[in-house]
Parts: sequence; C-alpha cells; structure tokens
Amino acid sequence: MKKMIVVMMLLLVCGLIIFGKQYAAKENGGNEKGPKQADQPQSQTQTQSRNQSGPKQKVLTLDKGDIYTGELLLVNTTHPVPKKLKVSHVINLFDHQDLMKGFGIMDKSVELPEEMLTRFNALVAAAKADGVTHFLINSGYRDNKKQAELYEQLGSEQANPPGYSEHNLGLSMDIGSTLGAMKSSPEGEWLKENAWKYGFVMRYPEDKTNITGIMYEPWHFRYVGLPHSAVMHKYGFVLEEYLAYLKEQSSIHAEVDGLMYTISYYPIKSKLELTVPSNGSYTIAGDNMDGVIVTTWEDDSSRKEVAG
Ligand SMILES: [Zn+2]
Repeated sequence: MKKMIVVMMLLLVCGLIIFGKQYAAKENGGNEKGPKQADQPQSQTQTQSRNQSGPKQKVLTLDKGDIYTGELLLVNTTHPVPKKLKVSHVINLFDHQDLMKGFGIMDKSVELPEEMLTRFNALVAAAKADGVTHFLINSGYRDNKKQAELYEQLGSEQANPPGYSEHNLGLSMDIGSTLGAMKSSPEGEWLKENAWKYGFVMRYPEDKTNITGIMYEPWHFRYVGLPHSAVMHKYGFVLEEYLAYLKEQSSIHAEVDGLMYTISYYPIKSKLELTVPSNGSYTIAGDNMDGVIVTTWEDDSSRKEVAG
C-alpha cells in the first residue's frame, strides 16, 4: 500500500512536470510573431524579433548630426536647410551634356549633384519607353547665392528665401516640358503617374497647399528614394505627412518590387545605438527635426541566410 502511494505520487509529479513543459511551450508559441503583411504598421518589439531571425546584425552609434543628413530631410518655411549640409559632386549640366540622356536644359546655369543626374536619367529612360520624350530641366541644385538672386528677382510669393528652399538640398528639380505647361503636358501627366517608381515625388500637390505652405507646383519634384516614394504615393502623403506618420507608427513594413522593407523612426536626444544588417542593406535618413528614419530590407542573399 505504501509502495502504491509512492508510485502514484511519482506519477502525479511526472504528470505535473510534463503538463508544465507543454504549457510553457504553448506560451512561447503564442508569443511568436506570424508573417508580416506589407504596409501594416508594426510595433518596435515586433521589428526586433524579426531582426533576430534575419540577416547578421551590427551595431551603429548615431548622434544628433545624423538628424541633419540624408534623403528625407524636411525643408519648408519652418524647417530651414541644415547649416552644415554638404552637397557633393554638383555638376553644371551645360558643361556635361554628354552625361544627359535624352532631355533638355533651360539655360547654362542648371546644376545637379551627379547622383541626382543618374537618377533622373533612369526616369527619363523609363518615360522614353512610354513615348514621353520632351523633358526640360528648368532648375536643379541652387546654392545660397543663386537662391538669394532668385528671391530678389521673384519675391517672396514665388521663391523661398535662401536656406529655406529644397533646391538648396540638391534633391529637388523643376521639371518642364517643351510641349507646354506641366499641368497638362504628356511629361507632367507621366510624372504624376510614374515618378514615384523612380524615387521622386511631386512635392507641392494642388490639394496639399495647406500642409506644404507652398502653391501648387506640378513641376517641382523631390527625390526621397524607394521605398519612401512608393508609400507616399500609396497613401497620398506629402513629406510633412509621411514623416509625421512614421513618427506616430514607429515602424511600418512595405513591399516594393519584391523587396520587403522595414521603415522605422527613432528619436535622437544625444546618442542612439542601432542594430542594422551587417550586409549593408539599410539606409539612415535624418528628418531635419528630431530623429532618423532607418530603412532595412531583405534581399535574396539575406533570405538564403535565414533559410540556412
Ligand atoms: Zn522648385
């Protein structure tokens, strides 16, 4: 009888242990995150748990200087161009017509950073394939001296004072058409539909003048890069709205051309330690306000790493 009780006690203890283990396993299973959907806002913790199973990571240390550099800088009447901004490899297009692939320039003064010229050439090539071939650049990069001259010439109604124009960033272009006004020309129509596919956005749309503070300019395009231009296009956001949205959501996902992007906003008070993929598939862009937007993506090679 005594033996029976001991055996039964043992069985009961074993049963409790097994039950406990199963329960714990279930708990862990319940905490695992399912596959992400494109464009669905996700919390920061979910992003981190995704990264742990993703490609190899490295740690970067960012500081406040990182707020003021990159392709998402917000420049408007209340956010001036960062003082220490460096725009590199600016070239005069008239002097480098060999580098221009199938478009015209308004005059000898048009300048662009070389990288922007490459991006615009890609856009022009895509438009050409659609039979749209009459692009004319009216203005590209402007330094403060050029902007001051323009401001004096056109006045505050039509030009921003030096230090408050996106053209000072080297990321904006005034694109025209030799066939007429951009509002109705084939070039204007094409850009409205397709510019986002090449990283460009119409910066001052007709229905957002109350947000941008700038009149409708169907010719002024700003480079923000992919996947940002795709998300902005999808939701109809101007840059002010997009940056506010990222800040509010902390982190979102977007799928563009088969790549899965995670776009996260981080405030920077003094220093920020950040984990990014060590294979270089990330970008960091300051918002010119109080933080940075970190974009990571998974390409084919990182997928193999996950599988292995
Ligand atoms: Zn412009």
